[in-house]
Amino acid sequence: KGPDPDLVEIEKRMENVKHKILVLSGKGGVGKSTFSAQLSFALAGMNYHVGLLDIDICGPSIPKMLGLEGQDIHQSNYGWSPVYLEPNLGVMSIGFMLPNPDEAVIWRGPRKNGLIKQFLKDVDWGDVEYLVVDAPPGTSDEHISIVQLLQVTGIDGAIIVTTPQEVSLIDVRKEVSFCKKVGLPVLGVVENMSGLQQPLTDFRFKKVTEIGEETDVTEWALQYMREKAPEMLDLVVCGEVFDSSKGGATKMCMEMGVPFLGKVPMDPHLCKAAEEGRSCFADQKCVASAPALKKIIQKL
Ligand code: ADP
Repeated sequence: KGPDPDLVEIEKRMENVKHKILVLSGKGGVGKSTFSAQLSFALAGMNYHVGLLDIDICGPSIPKMLGLEGQDIHQSNYGWSPVYLEPNLGVMSIGFMLPNPDEAVIWRGPRKNGLIKQFLKDVDWGDVEYLVVDAPPGTSDEHISIVQLLQVTGIDGAIIVTTPQEVSLIDVRKEVSFCKKVGLPVLGVVENMSGLQQPLTDFRFKKVTEIGEETDVTEWALQYMREKAPEMLDLVVCGEVFDSSKGGATKMCMEMGVPFLGKVPMDPHLCKAAEEGRSCFADQKCVASAPALKKIIQKL
C-alpha cells in the first residue's frame, strides 16, 4: 500500500510554510481567537508573511475579528486563495464557507475532519513564514486529526490560552496532557483576562450624595488632575476580576512542566479592537493589553 495521497498533498502544500503554530484552549470564550488574530497582526507587523487558518467549525470567529465578515473564498488554479487583510497577512476561515453566520453548524466528526483535511490540502498560502491555526476549543476528534495531519510536515507546537479561574485551568491540564499524548510540544500557556487594567482617564467619576443622588463630575475631576497632578492622567487602574488565589496558570505550568508565557489583562480596548477586526498594536488606547501581548510574542 502506497502513501496516503491526502498526506502527500498536504506535505506538498506545507513545503513553503516554515512555522506552524496551533492555538488551543480548554474552553470557549477565553480569548483564543483574539490571541490568534493579534498574534497574526503582530507577526505581520514584523514583516513576516503570515497565514491565519481558522478551523473552529462550530464557532468560527476569525472573520469577525478581522473585519472580514461576508467575504467569499476564491478559487484559482492553485487552490483556494486566502482573503488578504494586508499583503503579508492571508486569512482562511471555515466561516467564509458558511452561508449564514448565525446558523449553528452541526456536523459529525468525519465531515469536520474531511473539511480540515481539505483546508490543509487546498489553501494556496504561497510562501509563508508563520501559519497560525486557530483550533476549536477542547480536545476532540478534530484536534487529533489536525495534529496528525500537521505533524506529517512538522509543527512547531501549541500555545494554550486560558483564563485564571480554576474551572478553566482544569481544562488546560487536559490540553497539556493531550499535547503530551500526541507528541505535540507545548510552546507555552497564556493567561488571558488576567485582572482588569484600564487607564484612569477611561473612568467616569461620580459624586454620590447621602441620599444616593449621583452627579457626573468626570470633566471636573480630569480638569483638576490636569492642573494639580498631570502625572495622574497616565495612571492605569488595576483590579482582580476572577479569583486566582490558587496561583492561576503560573503555578499550573510549573506543576506540569510547561512554559508560562505571560498574562494579558482584561482590557476593554482590546475587546473593542478585536471585535472591530483591528490590531491592538496600532491602537494607542490598548495601553494595558498591547505591551503584555508583545512581551508574550517576543518569547516565542
Ligand atoms: P474564544 O476564541 O476562546 O472563544 P474569543 O477570542 O472569541 O474567545 O474572546 C471572547 C470575547 O472576549 C471576545 O468578545 C473578545 O473580544 C473578548 N476578549 C478576549 N480577550 C480579552 C481581553 N484580554 N480583554 C477584554 N476582552 C477580551
